[in-house]
Amino acid sequence: MAWRFALMIDPVASDDQGGDHTGTLRVVDPEAAALPLGELSAQRGDGVFESIGVVDGHPHEVGPHLERLAHSAALCDLPAPNLAQWRAAVDRAATEAGPGESVIKLILSRGVEGGPHPTAWVTLADAPDNTGARRDGVRVVTLDRGYPLGVPARSPWLLLGAKTLSYAVNMAAIREAKRRGADDAVFVTTDGFVLEAPTASVLLRIDGRFVTPAPSAGILHGTTQLSVFAHLEGRGLQAAYETVPVADLARADAAWLLSSVRLAAPISAVDGMPVAIDRDLTDELNAFLLARRD
Ligand code: PLP
Repeated sequence: MAWRFALMIDPVASDDQGGDHTGTLRVVDPEAAALPLGELSAQRGDGVFESIGVVDGHPHEVGPHLERLAHSAALCDLPAPNLAQWRAAVDRAATEAGPGESVIKLILSRGVEGGPHPTAWVTLADAPDNTGARRDGVRVVTLDRGYPLGVPARSPWLLLGAKTLSYAVNMAAIREAKRRGADDAVFVTTDGFVLEAPTASVLLRIDGRFVTPAPSAGILHGTTQLSVFAHLEGRGLQAAYETVPVADLARADAAWLLSSVRLAAPISAVDGMPVAIDRDLTDELNAFLLARRD
C-alpha cells in the first residue's frame, strides 16, 4: 500500500462541534515515525478505526463512517470523537487524493499508557486493485466465530460490533480461509447463523429478496451495505435485516461481500459449493457505488 498523506489530530472537546478545526490538524510525513513506543494502539490494539473509500477525490459515506467511529468509541469507553473535527480531517486528506481509488483511514487510539488523552490520526493511501474480486468473485469458507447469537448483549466487554484496532483474529481467519483453498471467510455462530466476513458485510438474495444479518448480532453495521440497501430500495426491491441461518448461504441464488474499498464482490463459492454470479447486478452495484459523490 502506498502511503500518500497523514495528519495527526489534536484533541478537541466533542462539545465544540462548530468552528474552524484546521488549526488542530498537523500534517506529518506518512513514511516517518510519528507515535511514541508507549502507544496503546501498538501495544494492545486498544483503539478504534474506520476505512473510507475515496473515488476521484470524493470520500464515500463520511457521515455513516463518523457515526460508526463514535459508536465504536462509546463501546470502548473512549472519549467521544469531535465529529466536526474528524470531518475536517477527512476533507483535508481527500484534497490530496487525486484521480482513481484511494482509502482514508481514521484511527482513534487510547493513547500513551498513563497519558492525558487519546491519540488520533488520519492517513491517505492508494487503494489496492479490486477489479478482479469485483469481476470474478471470491470463494468463501464458513468459519465458526466461537459463540452463539445472544453473546453480544450478554457480554458487552467482548466489544462485538465495535470496529476495534484488534484485527489479528480477522486476519487469522483470512489466512485460514486461504489454507482451505478459498479467498475469504464468512464467520458463523456456534448455533448456526451467518455473521459477517472478517472485513466485509454479507448480502444474500433469496427468492428475489435481499437479506443481510442484523447488526444486533454483534457485527459491524456496514456503510456499503447501507448504500446498497438504499439503491435496491430505490429500484423497488425488498431488502431486510434478518437472523440468517447458515443454510441460507446454500439457498441464496446470489451473494456478495460488501465493504468500503472492495465494494461489491460476488461470492462465487461457499465451502467449495459454487454460487451463481449475477454479473449484471454486480456491475450495476459497483457502478453505483463508484459513482457516489459523498
Ligand atoms: N464487517 C467487518 C468486520 C469489517 O471490517 C467491515 C469493513 O471493514 C465491514 C463489515 C463492512 O463495513 P463497510 O461497508 O462500512 O466498509
